[in-house]
Amino acid sequence: MTSSVPSTMKGVMINKTGGTEVLEYKTDIPVPTPIDGQILVKNDYIGVNFIDTYFRSGLYPAPQMPYILGREAEGTVVKLGGGDSYGLKEGDKVVVMCEGTYAEYTSAPAARAVKVPAGMDSKIGAAAWLQGLTALTMVREAHAVKKGDWVLVHAAAGGTGLWLCQLLRAIGANTIGTASTDEKVELAKKAGATHVVNYSHEDVKAKVMELTGGQGCIAIFDGVGKSTFDLSLDCVARKGSLISFGNASGAVPPVTIARLSAKNVRLMRPTLFNYIVTREELEGYTNELFGLVVKDKFDVRIHETYPLSEVARAHEYLEGRKTTGKLLLDPSK
Ligand code: NDP
Repeated sequence: MTSSVPSTMKGVMINKTGGTEVLEYKTDIPVPTPIDGQILVKNDYIGVNFIDTYFRSGLYPAPQMPYILGREAEGTVVKLGGGDSYGLKEGDKVVVMCEGTYAEYTSAPAARAVKVPAGMDSKIGAAAWLQGLTALTMVREAHAVKKGDWVLVHAAAGGTGLWLCQLLRAIGANTIGTASTDEKVELAKKAGATHVVNYSHEDVKAKVMELTGGQGCIAIFDGVGKSTFDLSLDCVARKGSLISFGNASGAVPPVTIARLSAKNVRLMRPTLFNYIVTREELEGYTNELFGLVVKDKFDVRIHETYPLSEVARAHEYLEGRKTTGKLLLDPSK
């Protein structure tokens, strides 16, 4: 291993599932050795995503225990494991999307790493990537939104929500956002939502029907899940799509498909990972997304960068609906 790479590192792992008390910040985790097809990346910034809380809580099963959380990071390639490194070399700045990123170093499949383009500021890769790709693939593939479409976006001031608002504005859609506070309402409007409903006290369905002349929205992007599913079904237009892509409020219980026939609704439960399986898909979408940031000046809102040792606070804030935009972890602290 390269001499500058230490033998142990800081990282956050779980040994059992539960609340934030199961997050174990360690300073003596062995630095992984990259094998064929992998690269070793020294992480500068780690993206926090809602999925990390699902693995921590047990909503999604961890493949083994102990388990280092995390799915996304930005950093520098410090070692190649051999085999196909997809043109990457030591010293390259990359983003990686794989398991085990809540640590100073991650052994990542080279196939799941993409170079950060010149001109992109530090932090922005980790802040933009997973949530931005989710939004991009949802509006492109889950439901191909067209100019003039009426679209409903729940949690519009969240990390993924702000991306959806910006992308939908660029497409020329009419976006109705939902958010739980007045501050979030303003952020979603600034990001491009044409109308935003504060669903803590406003009637979302009434507003959607008023704005759409009683038709409803042709596409609903719902990452909130359990608490908004019925509302989403109420708000979707005839022949519209309900794209249920997350569980922020809990998993959606089993649905009787006969309920969809009332309006010939398409119901979909997509995941980003199945839209970026091939190298061509991953690179194509990533280059497009980073182009939106670098050339088209899309805003990448960072809520806060937390020291890795304060990961529990980051999870508590994210799950407590106290955040807007992206949360990052800094493994050097
Ligand atoms: P967000 O930044 O959007 O945070 C979640 C937001 O959901 C909160 O800020 C809150 O906004 C809203 N919310 C509503 N009810 C609850 C609740 N009971 N508990 C917590 N939050 C609630 O997170 P992300 O952008 O990281 O993720 C958003 C959703 O997208 C998640 O469900 C996530 O799993 C999903 N996702 C799915 C992917 C996929 O591939 N399918 C990939 C990436 C994300 P408010 O206060 O305004 O209601």
